[in-house]
Amino acid sequence: AAKAAGKSAWRTCTPELRESAVSRAELIADLRRAVDEGQLLMEFQPIVDLATGTVRSAEALVRWRHPRLGVLPPARFLPLAEETGLILAIDRWVIHEACRSAATWRERAPEVTVAVNIAAAHLCRPDLIATVTGAMGAAGLPPRALTLELTESALIEGSEAVLDRLAQLRDLGIRIAIDDFGTGYSSLSYLHRIPATELKIDRSFVSRLDAGDARAYATVEMVNRLAGAFDLAVVAEGVETGEQHAAVTAIGCRQGQGWRYGRPAALSELLPTLAPADVAR
Ligand code: C2E
Ligand code: MG
Ligand code: MG
Ligand code: MG
Repeated sequence: AAKAAGKSAWRTCTPELRESAVSRAELIADLRRAVDEGQLLMEFQPIVDLATGTVRSAEALVRWRHPRLGVLPPARFLPLAEETGLILAIDRWVIHEACRSAATWRERAPEVTVAVNIAAAHLCRPDLIATVTGAMGAAGLPPRALTLELTESALIEGSEAVLDRLAQLRDLGIRIAIDDFGTGYSSLSYLHRIPATELKIDRSFVSRLDAGDARAYATVEMVNRLAGAFDLAVVAEGVETGEQHAAVTAIGCRQGQGWRYGRPAALSELLPTLAPADVAR
């Protein structure tokens, strides 16, 4: 309590910080209503096959249409959601919404899967499996059409129970991706214990490829080779330029995601990109 009091006393020292503290409290109050009042929205970003350009999957990315502040990116509200536990309600909404959307686009493009980010807090919950299978069941989505994305740090905090839960999900046929790979602190010895099916190479490495950064190149190459040895698929994240596309392709990555292939967008914008036959007409 002393620590908390000291912290807030310090906060009131400068007007700027006080203001941000107030808006933070307001934001938390607003966030409590956001899910119930339908203020969350979903965007989808394509994950493409690098050789053909075909869309293989789409990642669901949440946004918050705040009544006064406009559309906020996840970085503006997910940290608050995690601190307050609201992340569980948000993730549940996201999983349901993502499964429903995927079921819709699979009527047009039956092979295209959906990827959903799962917060660390959610991994620790025994009801994660029920939440995920419930959402798939309600949408009529088969397990092989769903990838759960987890970060290394979330996995490291995880106990045996977490690894067990993930193994159960994978045994159901759901895919498990390690997101932002290379930015966490996982030791390589940890990798074989995680029941993953794919690695997503973090944007921070990919973005340095076209500057001729030999270390970034070696890192992406190493991760790609490592993934091969572990029988994991690879997605290069954050591909923005033609040079980056050429580099990740030359290295041998099979899939890519980034502005070069498509920005996150509403389902209605994603749909036409999934039906090349229609587009060509
Ligand atoms: P992430 O899972 O690594 O998602 C990729 C992020 O990179 C997205 O940011 C996406 O818009 C951005 N991105 C994709 N391609 C490019 C590119 O070429 N250049 C650049 N500069 N950025 C690119 P976004 O949507 O702001 O999401 C940020 C993070 O928030 C996500 O990182 C994920 O960790 C988290 N997040 C997003 N939606 C959810 C959600 O529904 N639930 C949970 N638990 N976390 C989420
Ligand atoms: Mg992700
Ligand atoms: Mg990522
Ligand atoms: Mg990332």
